Amino acid sequence: MALAPLGPQRYLAVVTPPLPLARRSVRKADVPEREWNDWRWQARNMLTTADELAAVITLSDAERAGLAASAHLFRVGVTPYYASLMDPVNPACPIRMQALPAAREGDVRAEELRDPLGEEGHQPTPCVIHKYPDRALFLVIDRCAIYCRHCNRRRLVGGDDPPTSAEIEAGLDYLARTKRIRDVLISGGDPLLLSTAKLDYLLSRLREIPHLEIIRIGTRVPVVNPMRVDDELCAMLRKHHPLYINTHFNHPRELTPEARAACVRLVDHGIPVGNQAVLLRGINSSVRCLRALMRELLKTRVKPYYLFQGDTVVGTDHLRTPVEAAIELYGKLRGWMTGMGVPHLVIDAPGGGGKLPIGPSYLEEIGEDTVTVRTYRGARVAYPQPRERDCTVAYDDVYFAGVPADDDREGSAEAWDDLAAAATDDDRGP
Ligand code: SF4
Repeated sequence: MALAPLGPQRYLAVVTPPLPLARRSVRKADVPEREWNDWRWQARNMLTTADELAAVITLSDAERAGLAASAHLFRVGVTPYYASLMDPVNPACPIRMQALPAAREGDVRAEELRDPLGEEGHQPTPCVIHKYPDRALFLVIDRCAIYCRHCNRRRLVGGDDPPTSAEIEAGLDYLARTKRIRDVLISGGDPLLLSTAKLDYLLSRLREIPHLEIIRIGTRVPVVNPMRVDDELCAMLRKHHPLYINTHFNHPRELTPEARAACVRLVDHGIPVGNQAVLLRGINSSVRCLRALMRELLKTRVKPYYLFQGDTVVGTDHLRTPVEAAIELYGKLRGWMTGMGVPHLVIDAPGGGGKLPIGPSYLEEIGEDTVTVRTYRGARVAYPQPRERDCTVAYDDVYFAGVPADDDREGSAEAWDDLAAAATDDDRGP
């Protein structure tokens, strides 16, 4: 399919800047239903200042201090819809704590990093981060529908430096000539802030690349601007299967009827939806809260996928849980609730080491004849080892006849290191 080149140079900036002060109320009760349910209205009317937020909630002194300091920290922005979920008087509200900066964001520790995941060392072209062998991130927009205080890409988002058409084209070109990439994750920023037509264009371009097997979209829109997930968007997305969406609910309070409807609509269009939550101290760091979040996600047909230990990004020390607390919390999920609702607890290793599973160990001892395991209730159980040790799959020679041995396209570790260092393309693979 021939696709017309993109027009404007900064074609991805689709959301006009926030309205100036002295605007009319954006409280739900004061807004016509038609506007409230219009995702573009929500995006246009994001609350960004203390005065705007004070019209919706009673700001504490600490929140005012945080907002005053935020100009030097990280952009503030929250949709009227998400603001309507805030407890109007209690600053411990999990919605407020995710959206409003604390003055402690300015207390940057020496160990905290601008780029905690080491992504800049794996950026062959400005819009692509290629850190793992067979998958890559495609950064298509620098705006979000909320600016989360725990964001690990705060260096990249905020709407000040949208990708140019040339950068997007260079990204598409890299993905097309790097045959080891099977899986592309469209991210940003939030890709669902693009117009449906622009997103359709990008997905169509990606679908022209034969070696891209699956496409994923990372988005917080179902959480903070669920009106965006309408039938038109879903009908467009389903043209590009296999397509997955990973969203980012952190607290059960976010699973409103509107947010649930958005997720269900996606799933009804055949789009599997996963959730990537971040463990946030004082926001969701209780057994009760995590269990409720995971259970409510499952009821919404959203699969809990990851639970991230907080990244070491600048200004977020106060939001991170100690790792031992994370492991203890996780131990109260596994076994105590359906395994479908238990995400992977991971640390994304600083410096680019990737996602590493952490959690309680249930394996106490491995012997030749017996393995000792510990149940989720703490009982020790002996598991007998089998007598045969050879795990060769004899039928592999039949099923994979004629397929190169490194069909995983990863090649050797040395080859991968070379690629990562040179950030060049690789033509191996079937
Ligand atoms: S939506 Fe995602 S990328 Fe945007 S600020 Fe929140 S965590 Fe960061």
